[in-house]
Amino acid sequence: MGLTKNSVAHRASDSLKIKKQSSSDKTIALAGNPNVGKSTVFNALTGMNQHTGNWPGKTVTCASGRFNTKNNSNVLIDLPGTYSLLSHSEEEEIAKDFLCFSSPDATIVVCDATCLERNLNLVLQIMEISSNIIVCINMMDEANRKKIKIDINTIEKRLGVPVLGICARKKKSLTSLLNCIDKTINNKKEKFPIQTEYEENIETAISMLFPLIMEKTNNARISRWLSLRLLEDNDDVQKKIVLYFGEEFFDGQIINALENTKIFLKNKGISENELKDKIVSAFIRKAEDICKNAVIYENKGYNLFDRKTDKILTGKFTAYPVMLLFLMLVFWITITGANYPSELLSGLFSKAEALFDSLLLKAGAPQLLRSCLLEGIWRVLSWVVSVMLPPMAIFFPLFTLLEDVGYLPRIAYNLDKTFMRCNACGKQALTMCMGFGCNAAGVVGCRIIDSKRERLLAILTNSFVPCNGRFPTLIAILTMFFVGTKTNMASSLLSALFLTVIILIGIFATFFSTWALSKTLLKGEPSSFTLELPPYRKPQIFKVLVRSVFDRTLFVLGRAMVSAIPAGLIIWIMANVTVGNVTLLNHAAAFLNPLAQFMGLDGVILLAFILGLPANEIVLPIIFMAYMAQGAITEIPDLTLLREILMGNGWTILTAVNTMLFSLMHWPCSTTILTIKKETGSAKWTFLSVAIPTLSGIFLCMITTLIYNIII
Ligand code: GDP
Repeated sequence: MGLTKNSVAHRASDSLKIKKQSSSDKTIALAGNPNVGKSTVFNALTGMNQHTGNWPGKTVTCASGRFNTKNNSNVLIDLPGTYSLLSHSEEEEIAKDFLCFSSPDATIVVCDATCLERNLNLVLQIMEISSNIIVCINMMDEANRKKIKIDINTIEKRLGVPVLGICARKKKSLTSLLNCIDKTINNKKEKFPIQTEYEENIETAISMLFPLIMEKTNNARISRWLSLRLLEDNDDVQKKIVLYFGEEFFDGQIINALENTKIFLKNKGISENELKDKIVSAFIRKAEDICKNAVIYENKGYNLFDRKTDKILTGKFTAYPVMLLFLMLVFWITITGANYPSELLSGLFSKAEALFDSLLLKAGAPQLLRSCLLEGIWRVLSWVVSVMLPPMAIFFPLFTLLEDVGYLPRIAYNLDKTFMRCNACGKQALTMCMGFGCNAAGVVGCRIIDSKRERLLAILTNSFVPCNGRFPTLIAILTMFFVGTKTNMASSLLSALFLTVIILIGIFATFFSTWALSKTLLKGEPSSFTLELPPYRKPQIFKVLVRSVFDRTLFVLGRAMVSAIPAGLIIWIMANVTVGNVTLLNHAAAFLNPLAQFMGLDGVILLAFILGLPANEIVLPIIFMAYMAQGAITEIPDLTLLREILMGNGWTILTAVNTMLFSLMHWPCSTTILTIKKETGSAKWTFLSVAIPTLSGIFLCMITTLIYNIII
């Protein structure tokens, strides 16, 4: 045999880039169905900050972190959530390969107490591959609330592995898990894990292959597992086995035995598909047996509230109006709420600028340096903070709240049929929603889509929905042009409605471009998938606030500020260096002007979009900066004045609308472009992902300009 067990494990760990700090480190895998609280357990144990959210499929890559138990230091691997180990989606492959080939020292399988029986299917499948398993029944608080009684001891006896009832949101409840991990690792075998048994013919088939595979793997569980997988679907499994065990695994003996076993099953009337069905049924029956009289639903109508709410939120006639109302409500709160802190911040920055200037003067800084630092870098920075921060700080928590409550998958459910009509996968609705947070995250999220064609459709069209960085631009322009500083109910409602329309245009463009691509470059039939609607959960308001401020708002703001410094400097240089008595800024703007005019914009706006490639958040500040560098304004103005600056530079309602439309549809930011290149591995698809939204944006702006010119 070419590879030892250790080198197989090493190869599997390497493929997941797991870095142990010392050879005594233990590897613990964290597995479970999607949305059962794995990331919450991961964060609680490692003190890290993996994204958690109330919808299935958000963890598509493996995160790893460290934590200590009393006796061991451990590396914890958060595997992607999977419903089973028997099919072939990307997340299942990752989880399966890791569990099967890298032999973790222990595997924690997290289950949801409110649907334990279904979750046990995966537990039983994992028990087929690994023996050092700890089952954590999470969400015990929810189960209690729903009057679902779980007899943990009975479940533990029936499974033959340690079973703990936990509430991962409360860190304290994880103490028993830490002790249990140590016991399991140190191999204090007090329990005997059960094994799912299949019908007689299948057991005979396993026994025909098992001894030969056992010789090569030296692991009874894995040999039994591989015997079945080879019979079910040999191509994929054979490739994996060759990858981990080497070509020599398939010697003449194994190939013969495999042929004979297949003939045996065929003679018994069991086709490959039937074999799969029988295996799945065996797990379902076993899970049912384990839960019998150990899980009791005292209140039969325990999910009545969810069902009633779903009737409204996903109902045939109500789903879309409710979705629009929610969208408008979020925008309305953001727009009305952002105004006041925005003014406050710009006032503060003005004062700070004066102070900063006097300090520079005292320090004897030359005029050129003062101008560069204040009018260049400081101003772009201060606008990024004062104009962009308030809407972000309001929008993200609201969006995260909707995610935490469980509304996001309902949106995906509602949009599923439309995506199918565009010949795409319904899961694209989820990746589109992820794009609202960050397009780069949305693109990575497309890994949840199994078919390559459908994944490409989702990747190429993801940037049609505005991300973190573009929302504030849209909101700031709306506030300036439609609300003003004197907010009243009617004007703010109108701007929320307007923003909703803009977003709907983005969603429509996503549908249209997906459909067009699926009829041309990416032809094919849509695949079906099952989207599980998670229960509605009480959001953790404090955590949502902290998470959205630190993880998202400050992260995005930090990135924007980092890009704002060089952008501010470039603009300042361009505004101060002249060629033939005309500044570089005016040269560049004049160069871009002809195209920009066609699009109802001007050269400065187009230049700002180009300079905003590293971060969309800096587009608007660059526009102001460029206009102010051309004029004689010396102070940092508030929002009303900013509007006047824009109007003074020839902005009309058309310019405002088209800037918003172009912000909605233009090239993705550089991070997203790099992510697309990485995910597709193709320059052609990366180019198209830039060209499609950009050409759409240019086209749309030209159309609105044409219509405006005809009407006005
Ligand atoms: P994952 O998909 O398995 O990683 O699940 P997450 O850790 O993202 O959790 C899914 C949702 O369940 C989130 O909204 C969590 O806040 C919530 N959650 C996690 N653990 C608990 C718990 O013990 N009780 C309750 N009520 N909610 C929980």
